Amino acid sequence: MAAEIHELNRALEAFDRRNTPAGLLVRYARGRLRYFFSRQALTLFGAMVLAFSVSLQTGLLAMSVAAVGELIDSYLLRGVEKQLNRGVPVQDLLRKTAVSAFAQALGLSAFVAILWLAIPREAALLLCLAYMGAGAVNAIMALAYHRTAAYTRLVVYGVTVTLLFVADFYVLHYQREQFFYNIAATLMVAYTMLPFVSYVTTGRLRDLRQQRRQIEQGLALAKANASLLERQREGRRLSSIAENADDSIIMLDADAHTLWVNPAFTRKTGYKLSEVVGKHPTDYLHGPRSDPAILNLFNEAVRTGVPAHGENVNYTKIGAPFWVETNLSPVFDEHGNLEMAISVDRDITLKKQRETELAEAKRAAEQGERAKTAFLATMSHEIRTPMNGIIGMSDLLNEANLNKEDALYVQTIRHSSEALLTIINDILDFSKLQDGHLKISSIAFELQPCLDEVMNLMRPQAHAKGIALKADIADNLPRTVWGDDGRLRQILVNVIGNAIKFTESGDVHVHVGTVEEGPDHGLEIAVTDTGIGIPPDRIETVFDQFAQADAATTRRFGGTGLGLAISRQLARMMGGDVIATSSLGVGSCFVIQVDFPEVNLPAKRAVNPDVLPEPEVFDGATVLLAEDNRTNRFLVQKLLKDLPLTLVTAVNGKEAVDMVEELRPDVVLMDMSMPVMDGLDATRFIRNRMAAQPHIIALTANAYRSDRQACMEAGMNGFLPKPVRRAELLKAVAKGLESRKLSTSAR
Ligand code: ADP
Repeated sequence: MAAEIHELNRALEAFDRRNTPAGLLVRYARGRLRYFFSRQALTLFGAMVLAFSVSLQTGLLAMSVAAVGELIDSYLLRGVEKQLNRGVPVQDLLRKTAVSAFAQALGLSAFVAILWLAIPREAALLLCLAYMGAGAVNAIMALAYHRTAAYTRLVVYGVTVTLLFVADFYVLHYQREQFFYNIAATLMVAYTMLPFVSYVTTGRLRDLRQQRRQIEQGLALAKANASLLERQREGRRLSSIAENADDSIIMLDADAHTLWVNPAFTRKTGYKLSEVVGKHPTDYLHGPRSDPAILNLFNEAVRTGVPAHGENVNYTKIGAPFWVETNLSPVFDEHGNLEMAISVDRDITLKKQRETELAEAKRAAEQGERAKTAFLATMSHEIRTPMNGIIGMSDLLNEANLNKEDALYVQTIRHSSEALLTIINDILDFSKLQDGHLKISSIAFELQPCLDEVMNLMRPQAHAKGIALKADIADNLPRTVWGDDGRLRQILVNVIGNAIKFTESGDVHVHVGTVEEGPDHGLEIAVTDTGIGIPPDRIETVFDQFAQADAATTRRFGGTGLGLAISRQLARMMGGDVIATSSLGVGSCFVIQVDFPEVNLPAKRAVNPDVLPEPEVFDGATVLLAEDNRTNRFLVQKLLKDLPLTLVTAVNGKEAVDMVEELRPDVVLMDMSMPVMDGLDATRFIRNRMAAQPHIIALTANAYRSDRQACMEAGMNGFLPKPVRRAELLKAVAKGLESRKLSTSAR
């Protein structure tokens, strides 16, 4: 079929090529050259007539003039094809060959003129007319190929005949009647030729058009046949795909009635084609768990002829449910009307099962994570409450007049509980970091006092081990910066604490400067020690959670392996990092970088933790302590014992509210979790319903940021996490009294 189309295409191309101006010119030239000798035979015949009837010279003369014209014409026509191939424009060649046709026609006319003049009048007319007629017929034959040449010839012949008649009349004084008869005969001949001219011009054109149409029709027919064959083949292919597909295929008519189903459908559902044909899929596929919204979607899609996609539960013949993913595509006829819809159903039961399992696993993991966080928070709270007692009591004991040995015991208790508190804090921080609850809060603070505070805190530890703790601070350090001072202090305490912990002799050196490369406002603190060092293959793992350089270290020095993991994460949250370099047996260097921009705001006043408020501040004040734990009540009583204030206690929130009403205390120290009424409810009650408005300070083991926020939202003024130190407690109470005084004087 393809070969036939190719053949017809070629025929069409050849046809068009033959009928372009160039093609027609070539055919004209070939035709003229083909009949060259027949034409010469005719002229030779005339020349011979002249030679016999007039003279040999006259015959030769006539033959020569005709031949000259013919030769000029034929010479030019022979070169036409070659010149066209060389690219000579066809218009040029048409012009040239029209001129040569003129030459040829002139030659023939001269030949006829000699005949006309040389032979007797009566014989001449017929002979000459025969030649002129033959010439004219010849010219007309070429009309379709070279119109200019044809008309040139006809004009020359017409003019020649006219001239010969005129010559007859005037020069030879021919008889008038005969002249008119000759004219009439000539006109008759010309007239009879007109239909011929018309045929050659319009008739030929019609023929050409007819021929072309025939080729075109043949071609169209061949193409239609080819496309039909292709469609048949495609149809066979598609039906074999549908027959062998793994997905179920359902063909529906425009009213969503089943036309056909494939074998995969039967395998999956158990329904044969005969059982479902003519039925709506809803009638045989759907059941209790099928989603009606999806069914409506598909019904609507078939009705409106738009594609649809969806997932739903289908049922087999025996009622077993399975999940399918359905793609519904409309099929339209050639007029654009919906002919049918094809629904391809893929079984996705396994995928759905996996999704459910994953969702279940995710839910369980989240639940586990929540349980872990809740457990850590509770554990931290539960441990903090007794720790408050231990630390507070050892503080009190420290102030008693103990002998040297007892004092040492008390200090040991104190240090051990501090260490335990660090661990609790680390675990709490770690759990907060894990679930993303840990936040960095920035304020403007003075750098130097913050650094001094850390050094003062760490110095006794270093001193106890006989290690020198030195610090040098660069001159160009900004005075006030924007950042989280508490978290910076936490990182420093951890890294400097490690340096002291892992150094037996020598010194720990802290250099504070600005970062030369990296963040614009980088602060860089390098802590260098002369300690045990870290093996090169462990240098990065020490930053992992619960990771230590080696197990022996843990046994010797203790620790949880959380400090560096927390420090690095905190530093990263503050736009920096913690980086370690170390040499085993020589020492380590931990570089802390944080991004703290310099600010010109008034900074947070540096608090000196060692300076206690003057006792007069508390003169005449009434402080109410609401606390259900007896040890803690006892502890606070002892911490405030030598001050000129009245301390009253309540064991739950309800009692506290009543005592506020009755005694109108200046400051309330409010525990958060208490029986009957908790601290938050009691505070809300006081703030919303009572005339007396004391300064309320939360005193609690709940150390989460959210707890602090809850206290503030309930209307408290301060927050003291347990375990409470004496200095902090005194300062918080003093601050409360001061703010009360200010508000009273303002009123
Ligand atoms: P911890 O000190 O509680 O074990 P860290 O995360 O603070 O946990 O430290 C992890 C480990 O890194 C330590 O156990 C120790 O092996 C190693 N390490 C930390 N700092 C130093 C130091 N300055 N010199 C030697 N080893 C150190």
